[in-house]
Amino acid sequence: MKIADIYGKGRPVFSFEFFPPKSDQAAEELYEAVSELKERYRPDFISVTYGAGGSTRGRGVSVAKRIHSELELNVLAHLTCTDHSTEEIDRVVDELVGAGVENILALRGDAPAGGGAFVPHAQGFSHATELIQHLRSRDEIGAELGLGGACYPENHPESPNRTEDMKWTLAKQEAGAEFLISQLFFDNDDYFASIERGRQAGLTIPIVPGIMPITSVSQVERFTKMCGAKIPAELMERLDKRRDHPGRVMAIGIEWAIDQCVDLLERGAPGIHFYTLNKSEATRTILAGIHAGMRSAEF
Ligand SMILES: Cc1cc2nc3c(=O)[nH]c(=O)nc-3n(C[C@H](O)[C@H](O)[C@H](O)COP(=O)(O)OP(=O)(O)OC[C@H]3O[C@@H](n4cnc5c(N)ncnc54)[C@H](O)[C@@H]3O)c2cc1C
Repeated sequence: MKIADIYGKGRPVFSFEFFPPKSDQAAEELYEAVSELKERYRPDFISVTYGAGGSTRGRGVSVAKRIHSELELNVLAHLTCTDHSTEEIDRVVDELVGAGVENILALRGDAPAGGGAFVPHAQGFSHATELIQHLRSRDEIGAELGLGGACYPENHPESPNRTEDMKWTLAKQEAGAEFLISQLFFDNDDYFASIERGRQAGLTIPIVPGIMPITSVSQVERFTKMCGAKIPAELMERLDKRRDHPGRVMAIGIEWAIDQCVDLLERGAPGIHFYTLNKSEATRTILAGIHAGMRSAEF
């Protein structure tokens, strides 16, 4: 099923992002976690990230295929332009489509490990929009693909300003993206302000908030530094006090995420995309909390 068709049916859509594990054993644990999630919460779709390079790329594709075929869940496979020629991208997409995975989150990606600026492949793409345009224009499969892109409530770190950021976000819709998933954020006002800017600029497609449960202070500091998201002062103060108590940090993160999700859904967000970081226990606790906390929307 095309992911865009799941939204707008009068109920919140819940999706869960996993990254391809490094070992076969970790992969088995991942299938078990997704399977458990399926039994208890009937996820609308599972997304599988695409590695920056090397073996995790192949593993990501096989994890996506297996979740689709064995667990019979809707899968959104991430795909990036990093270090890929157009031909290589086509091969990955053909493999996914051949296995029945018809939804792709089309991303530019970042420079492979080691950092620095993104350098496009000589026979590849410079921006996500070019990838979306290319996939849409492909004979036979282009029109059938479910295509999404990324967006940034607090702007992409390379964007000089909000206007420029929104211009390129809108270009994704114009190229054929049918939904957007946001970068993680911790202040809902940033998400709603970006929705407002987007609607004014002409964005009409669903813009899905991405929520990351905090499970470690150093990890959230690292992630937010990388992606340019801020940690609100109130949250940072609470985390700082408990920095050396992992259990308390997790509890603070879960409580914050539940409040964020309930507020997002009550204010009309189309659903929640959870960055699970493969720790589905925290996500399951958050889901139970949302269930208990929701007053109006059907769960
Ligand atoms: C929901 C989500 C999932 C992600 N999953 C993955 C993953 O699986 N694997 C991974 O490696 N990374 C992933 N990322 C990270 C992502 O690859 C980075 O954020 C990357 O820096 C930008 O990707 P993009 O698709 O938004 O790029 P783009 O849309 O290409 O934007 C990159 C920058 O270029 C600017 N820009 C865009 N188009 C143009 C243009 N035509 N001319 C000039 N400037 C332009 C934008 O404003 C922005 O500053 C994910 C991010 C999100 C939010």
